Amino acid sequence: MEEERLHFHEMGLDDRVLKALADLGWSQPTLIQEKAIPLALEGKDLLARARTGSGKTAAYAIPLIQRILMSKQTVREQAVRALVLVPTKELGQQVQSMIRQLTAYCSRDVRVADISGKADISAQKPILMEKPDIVVSTPSRVQAHINGQNLQLQSSLEMLVIDEADLLFSFGFEADLKSLLCHLPKIYQAFLMSATLNDDVQALKELVLHNPVMLKLQGSQLPDSSQLQQYSVRCEEEDKFLLIYTLLKLGLVQGKSLLFVRDVDRCYRLKLFLEQFSIPACVLNSELPIHSRCHIITQFNQGFYNYIIATDEQGLENPARCSQKTQEKGKKKKNSRKKGKDKEYGVSRGIDFHNVCNVINFDFPASVESYIHRVGRTARADNPGSALSFISHTELPMLMEVENALTGDSTHDSVLKPYGFKMEEIEGFRYRAVRDAMRSVTKQAVKEARLKEIKQELLNSEKLKTYFEDNPRDLQLLRHDKDLHPAVIKPHLKNVPDYLMVASNFKWKEDLFYLCYLFI
Ligand code: AMP
Repeated sequence: MEEERLHFHEMGLDDRVLKALADLGWSQPTLIQEKAIPLALEGKDLLARARTGSGKTAAYAIPLIQRILMSKQTVREQAVRALVLVPTKELGQQVQSMIRQLTAYCSRDVRVADISGKADISAQKPILMEKPDIVVSTPSRVQAHINGQNLQLQSSLEMLVIDEADLLFSFGFEADLKSLLCHLPKIYQAFLMSATLNDDVQALKELVLHNPVMLKLQGSQLPDSSQLQQYSVRCEEEDKFLLIYTLLKLGLVQGKSLLFVRDVDRCYRLKLFLEQFSIPACVLNSELPIHSRCHIITQFNQGFYNYIIATDEQGLENPARCSQKTQEKGKKKKNSRKKGKDKEYGVSRGIDFHNVCNVINFDFPASVESYIHRVGRTARADNPGSALSFISHTELPMLMEVENALTGDSTHDSVLKPYGFKMEEIEGFRYRAVRDAMRSVTKQAVKEARLKEIKQELLNSEKLKTYFEDNPRDLQLLRHDKDLHPAVIKPHLKNVPDYLMVASNFKWKEDLFYLCYLFI
């Protein structure tokens, strides 16, 4: 028999919050919301582990809003009452946007400010002078404002949220986090949200939580196979390009897709390759300015693009560094990132890409964690999704690690099912299109494209910041998936030649239908 689920209207929430929830179309709380909200409203500290996409933002945001509304009935004085710490600017913006949606009917009473994203500390001073009820930020930014005496939390803070706590550590925020804890009052309610409950998170728990309730809602960090289908296919370097071309050009991958590669050069290599077949894709990487990155995600969510090519937030130039076995050793190195890359950049983790149907690991991730976070971008909330990983022989050991982690041990059936694709059926494309296109994407072309895009996006970013604030409608016209190297595009590659499309043998047709079935 199905268990009785608690509804939002049974949680004693303010009518204005219930109205906002109705506008969002959320008919009932997710599991973590159902458990966390009543406990949080009782005043309990919480340590929650829930799989990514489980609705954890609202699980802490709703109690924050409710408590602020309640305390405003007696104390009208404006003060920063809640602090939400996030590891990345993108997540900061997303959290702010979620809180804005939830406070749509009480935005005067509950004001939220995300200060993680803007570069200039002094420009944020006026925002903090207004004492927003909820401040969302990265730990380093909060610390900078405390040091600059723009923010004072000692007397007013009632609630602290640490979101994606494990990532805060791997992003090197530990020192900032610990030092800012000294500036908080003795008593406050705290929520710690984390994808994994590793040693760092346990240590943090001791520091900030008092008698917390532990919510470990899901054994598995990814949805089961009824919601998320996971596949792997063996292919070496050239085959990866051949296969992605086939899947995208023939429309065998349906719906919005995220294509993950191992480093930034590879993003552009793949983009330039696809460009030649008139398959537009956006690149999202840590070198691009924050405004551009957020704009790309917003437009992707609005349905402007079908494909985003992305890297992990932990640059995977040196995969050994991130492999599970070497993670411990690599911890110290993680903090010393390459110049030019944004430490507070996050794609696979935390960011809410809407309605992603497929995650394609063009390059397999270099750690189990990274696999979970990439694949967790699809099949969010109750939506279905697929993940397909291309595996070269050097990536096989990591595939085994992922399998072991997902199944618990290696004796179970594999979680990533073999993707029944016969590469020999598409050999025709290799010689007539793919090899030619790959040859055009030289190292020099990649270098130029990478530079060109940064320049372009820096310009875009400035525009985004100023002009588009006043002209929001024009923002829709700015696209991020334009060709970067028109010189190498060969018009004849735009269409798939008929002689290659004719299903001359029956097996090929079968494969097509099989693939369509998998990805619909
Ligand atoms: P989160 O795990 O907070 O990033 O949320 C993942 C996605 O689930 C977001 O797109 C939310 O808008 C959506 N979501 C959160 N709570 C609910 C709910 N109760 N019903 C439907 N969708 C939800």
